[in-house]
Amino acid sequence: MREILIVGAGFAGSVLAQKFASSGHRVTVLEQRSHIGGNCYDFMDEQSVRQHLYGPHIFHTNSTQVSEYLSNYTKWMPYQHKVLGLIDGKLLPIPFNLTGIEACFPAHEANAIKGLLVSKYGMGSKVPILELRKNKDPLLSKLADFIYEKVFLHYTMKQWGQSPDEIDQAVTDRVPVNVSYDDRYFNDSFQMMPLQGYTAIFKKLLMHPSIKVELNVDACERIQLDPDKGTIAYNGSDFAGTLIYTGCIDRLFQYALGKLSYRSLDFDVQYKEGTYQPVTTVNYPTPVIEHAYTRITEYKHMMLSKPENTTIAIEYPMAYDRDGQKGNIPYYPIFTKESQNQYESYKELAKKIPQLTLVGRLAEYRYYNMDAIILRALEVFEELQDANG
Ligand code: FAD
Ligand code: UDP
Repeated sequence: MREILIVGAGFAGSVLAQKFASSGHRVTVLEQRSHIGGNCYDFMDEQSVRQHLYGPHIFHTNSTQVSEYLSNYTKWMPYQHKVLGLIDGKLLPIPFNLTGIEACFPAHEANAIKGLLVSKYGMGSKVPILELRKNKDPLLSKLADFIYEKVFLHYTMKQWGQSPDEIDQAVTDRVPVNVSYDDRYFNDSFQMMPLQGYTAIFKKLLMHPSIKVELNVDACERIQLDPDKGTIAYNGSDFAGTLIYTGCIDRLFQYALGKLSYRSLDFDVQYKEGTYQPVTTVNYPTPVIEHAYTRITEYKHMMLSKPENTTIAIEYPMAYDRDGQKGNIPYYPIFTKESQNQYESYKELAKKIPQLTLVGRLAEYRYYNMDAIILRALEVFEELQDANG
């Protein structure tokens, strides 16, 4: 039996806690917030709407390992996520698709564009906007400029404070142009929402006699690392167990190599009567002077039995400020060459401490979806088991 200390009760920390406890180890989970679930935390609000406190979380995966694993902890409701975007005053499917082309171009031009797209890329294909923009064909180039401007440019400027050409291409590749009439946001083989929400899953993952969860604890105040000696102290004493850390890596090392860049969000949550909008999420890829926010989410569309009234969250991206009243949550790593290099230097520092494992969106400074981080946690468990016999 080993002593496992886990920092963070999001998916990374909770899946690892469940796996280690089920294998006979003693686990302590430290969480700085007043609740478990990390950014996937949800709760029933006064309107009987299941609100996602840290923004809308839609479960989708192509991994049967992940869907089977989670199915031990939840029942599901079928759900296909649909997003509409306000483009030229019309609400059109996002990702932009053939329906959008028909709505935004005169019929003869739309037909010609559709023909060109299908012959070049094939019906059903998905084309990243930055790929589409490389086109020399005048009509496809006109289309690419239109989509770039009306879907990506202003949204990305609001979301990241930078244009799509300036940020890591992998970010806009997440929402390619669909050469089809498919109006779903995702097309993974498994798309379901947990019937009782995400927090219920976390409660079950962590409900084990060998798991102790401590809330409202900033672990960095209890943990001291000594990279030179390769050791860890916990509450002032030598720690001989395994430390799994899922928070910000720069914070763990007391910013010894500088502060990493993050982007934050502010959610303006409002209660409304009836139903507010036709789908769960409406994007506003409009200039900031028209709408300062990027998207509005109406949570009740993700529920099986829909309450009469409704709760919406208006999402304002903003600079991260650790000590600010707003914007103090590091939602997204900002991927620049400089920040990646800085992260790599932190990783080298972490390697000097053999008992320390970094896993999670913040600790690995990566854009993991829920399924990807669950898979990663399951892999890390196997690796640590192998390493420790
Ligand atoms: P987190 O969930 O961030 O958990 C880390 C935990 O560690 C937190 O609870 C934090 O409080 C705690 N912690 C950090 N530092 C300390 C410390 N010093 N002491 C104690 N505790 C600490 N994924 C999808 O698949 N579908 C979606 O629709 C989707 N939507 C998203 C929308 C938004 C706005 C964001 C930001 C993310 C979205 N994601 C989505 C991604 C999803 O949130 C992540 O995959 C998931 O939360 C990663 O889990 P994690 O455990 O790595 O991190
Ligand atoms: N994006 C955009 N317009 C949209 C939707 C997305 O420009 O209408 C870009 C934007 O840069 C965003 C990225 O695509 O950050 C990824 O979008 P996704 O919805 O995957 O972001 P999430 O909010 O899930 O992180």
